[in-house]
Amino acid sequence: MTSLAHAVHVSPMQPLATTALPPRPDGGPMLWSPLSTTLIYGPREAVLVDPGLIAEQGVAVAKWAAGFDRTITGIYVTHAHGDHWYAAAPVLEQFPDAKVWASADTVAEMERTTPGGRPNPFWGAAFPGLIGDTSVIAEVVPESGLEVDGEALIPHSAGHTDTEHTTFLHVPSLDLVVSGDVVYNQVHQYLSEAGDHGIDAWLDAIDAVAALAPATVVAGHKNPERDDPASVIDDTREYLRAAAEVFGSVTSRTEYFEAMVQRFPAWLNPGIAWLTAVGRWAE
Ligand SMILES: [Zn+2]
Repeated sequence: MTSLAHAVHVSPMQPLATTALPPRPDGGPMLWSPLSTTLIYGPREAVLVDPGLIAEQGVAVAKWAAGFDRTITGIYVTHAHGDHWYAAAPVLEQFPDAKVWASADTVAEMERTTPGGRPNPFWGAAFPGLIGDTSVIAEVVPESGLEVDGEALIPHSAGHTDTEHTTFLHVPSLDLVVSGDVVYNQVHQYLSEAGDHGIDAWLDAIDAVAALAPATVVAGHKNPERDDPASVIDDTREYLRAAAEVFGSVTSRTEYFEAMVQRFPAWLNPGIAWLTAVGRWAE
């Protein structure tokens, strides 16, 4: 019988500066997707996964986590995209003894993408004045892995998913996977970095999550009105297969955007389909 439990906090959608990207073809808003932070806690200790993006989100996450009255031993960062870790600094203000952990590849990527401790140009332009201190303070996950009150949390390398060197965290005693961006929960998926073979690599990573047969999958980006069922694994595959088809059949940003919105009308935040399109086609 495990003594662990988990809880999920979802940071709400956040508007991007209108100057950051060309306007959406349908005139809709450009928003950052809801972002989940997971707390895995035992009787005394807890670990936080993916503290969020803007400073205000980090302050809210810290306040939420403090309500559990556990010793936060560390913050695990699933991958180097800024939306998953730039808010670590305000969380560390609340929990100064917590470590920040990530895989060796992720730590290197965090350093590469925050030259001089500043957010990379995309994030700075999208959220001017809203991002806190992004000096990298992450250290590589210890060889012995992570634990909460003596129970194991196991980081798995997932390779390329929505970026390079992504990971997910498996908590065997809870049948839980905290997936970072390997799995999405019915929110439009970011595919600008997929290149020619990125979708195949991403599908392999999803297979690695499915092989663990988790009961619960907390996706990095989730519709806050939905639970965290394992069926999001299949949903994520379906979106990728659809995107691969659409990549092969359209020739412009607008065509991609319209095709994906038409195929996934219930999925949250079409602005991310537009972000993908802008990253892949010059017009
Ligand atoms: Zn993300």
